[in-house]
Parts: sequence; C-alpha cells; structure tokens
Amino acid sequence: LFKLGVDIDGTINDFSNLIYKCAVIYNEGQGIYKNVDMSDYSMERYFNWTDYQNNEFWTKYYKHALINTVPHKGVVQALSLLKDRDVAIYFITARAENLREITLEWLKKHNIQMDYLIMEKDKSKTCLDYCINLMIEDEPDNCSAISKHIPVLCMSYPYNQHLEGHKNIKRIEDWNEAYSEIKNYLLK
Ligand SMILES: [Mg+2]
Repeated sequence: LFKLGVDIDGTINDFSNLIYKCAVIYNEGQGIYKNVDMSDYSMERYFNWTDYQNNEFWTKYYKHALINTVPHKGVVQALSLLKDRDVAIYFITARAENLREITLEWLKKHNIQMDYLIMEKDKSKTCLDYCINLMIEDEPDNCSAISKHIPVLCMSYPYNQHLEGHKNIKRIEDWNEAYSEIKNYLLK
C-alpha cells in the first residue's frame, strides 16, 4: 500500500495567496506599505509586525481564510484518480485539533478524497510514525526536515525557492505535475 502524505494549506488550496491578500488589507489599516513578493513564509517577519499586530492579524483573518480558500486547480481530480489506484491519502496538517470540523467540512464541500486527517505540527515525525512513502508540502522547514527521511514534492512558492535542487526534494508547479510525479513513484 502506497501512503501519500499531503499538506493542506498552500499545497492543496490557495491559502498562502489568500492570507497574503488579507495581510495587504490589514497593513493598509496599520499604515504599512510593502510590496508583496511572498519570499518569506513568516508574514510576521516579512512585514516586521509586532507580536500584537501578528496576534491581531491572525485573530481577524485566519478562520476567514480557512473557510474561503479554494482548492488548487487539478487537485480534486488528482486525489480521486490516486484513490482509484489504491493510494492511501493522509492529510497531515499543522492546523490545530479544534479546527478538525471546519477542515472536514471544507474537504467535503470541495469533494476532496482522503483516508485520514492528521493534525500534527511535527510533520517529519508524523511521516515516520505513519510510514508515509511520499509527502507533498510547501512550508520550507517541513520540506527540509521530511526530506531527510522520505522524498518530498514541494509545491512551488517564492518562499520555498531556495529548496530548488535539494536532495530528495522536487519542486512542482501544480497538481498536474504532482500527479505525474506521484505516478512515477507508484511504478518504482
Ligand atoms: Mg502548507
């Protein structure tokens, strides 16, 4: 049985783009004007927010973004085709356990196939614990840590650009590419 680990935010949905758009709106209210190139995963660091601003921003926009994010093009079909090939789909997300209902509702609403939803911050350990064969992820530190044990497909964003060419990490542009890469692993 092939076990595919799949991150949620930024990997199967447009959360990263959406949350940056929310940040631009938030920043206007704060008098912060900075061009957004998404070169840093941490918005707190990127916009030089204070702890107060960072808390205020996430309190205001996090749930809104979780509910309103939409699946990336091709992901619904790709996961459904993989299920047909008996691939077990493990969603592995750093979202907190109290967001399980919101998350399951969102997945259901968008007809996204899966077998398990694991809510866990230490993804590298989780991949080992569940014997995941291949992980798809966008957060750079997770990609690096997981790639020490198993191959990683990294959904491309400017904030993970520096991982290009890293051992055991393959950066991919979209879910068409993800699907053909996963198929290659299934044939191995
Ligand atoms: Mg992510």
